[in-house]
Amino acid sequence: MKFIVASRGDTLSNELQQVIENRLCQAELIKDTRSPDMVITVGGDGTFLQAFHDYNDRLDQTAFVGIHTGHLGFYADWSPSEVDALLTHIIKTPYQVIAYPLLEVVIRYANNREPARYLAVNECTVKSMEGSLVCHVEIKGETFETFRGDGLCMSTPSGSTAYNKALGGAILHPSLASIQLSEMASINNRVYRTLGSPLVLPQHHTCLLKLINGEKAQVTIDHFTLPVHQEKVETIQCRVAEEKVRFARFRPFPFWKRVKESFISD
Ligand code: NAP
Repeated sequence: MKFIVASRGDTLSNELQQVIENRLCQAELIKDTRSPDMVITVGGDGTFLQAFHDYNDRLDQTAFVGIHTGHLGFYADWSPSEVDALLTHIIKTPYQVIAYPLLEVVIRYANNREPARYLAVNECTVKSMEGSLVCHVEIKGETFETFRGDGLCMSTPSGSTAYNKALGGAILHPSLASIQLSEMASINNRVYRTLGSPLVLPQHHTCLLKLINGEKAQVTIDHFTLPVHQEKVETIQCRVAEEKVRFARFRPFPFWKRVKESFISD
């Protein structure tokens, strides 16, 4: 099996990265940065986000597993004290894979600039760099509402515990093939009226944001902000992607237990 260990870059994570690499190489597993079967992240959820985007061109062949050197993460649920046991599992046993849905984002620009397609594992956000964001929201080809406010967030079920949660969105079990639209401070008056509640869309529904002031839009995909082009953003189309993210699973760690331990108490 080919593997890569991605570190957050702090001393503890780098030391653990070295230990893991040595032990797996001794067991005759192959370190391969270009086409790993398994990506082991050491750090936090942010470290996983970076690794996901580094390898998102081969998601069907790569499984992720995460170790947290800080607090418990949703994508980094193994603690440093469990690393020995984890490595024994990786070396000795075939592993189970679970696959979770992703968000597909297609951005279309004015002046015939090529559309751009992205995959998000947490979310896509749209904000205005200047003034309020104004956009028409279409669901499944029908006009739904006109939004005016700070911005909109379209999240995956896995991302529902991240930015979406801070916006009052619901936490969804990551096995639900769906996407969630949540608002950032909408203005509601006689001209602009929005639902005001987060919306969860199923796999076969598409949400289209038609931007009125797209030249001032700032779009993020997970941890990175897209470069602003001269051509203005006309539409942002979001739906459940065909691709999935795959996690190597070696023991049960139910999602709701992780939610409780992350947000309530351990
Ligand atoms: P960051 O601003 O350095 O950290 C954001 C925090 O979100 C970190 O504590 C990170 O965990 C955590 N996180 C990431 N994915 C998560 C998930 N699926 N569930 C629960 N927590 C999660 O940025 P970053 O590390 O590059 O991560 C980018 C993410 O930050 C974005 O995808 C967005 O979801 C989130 N964000 C949240 C807010 C907010 O809550 N108001 C605002 C902006 C962005 P670790 O510490 O384990 O890395």
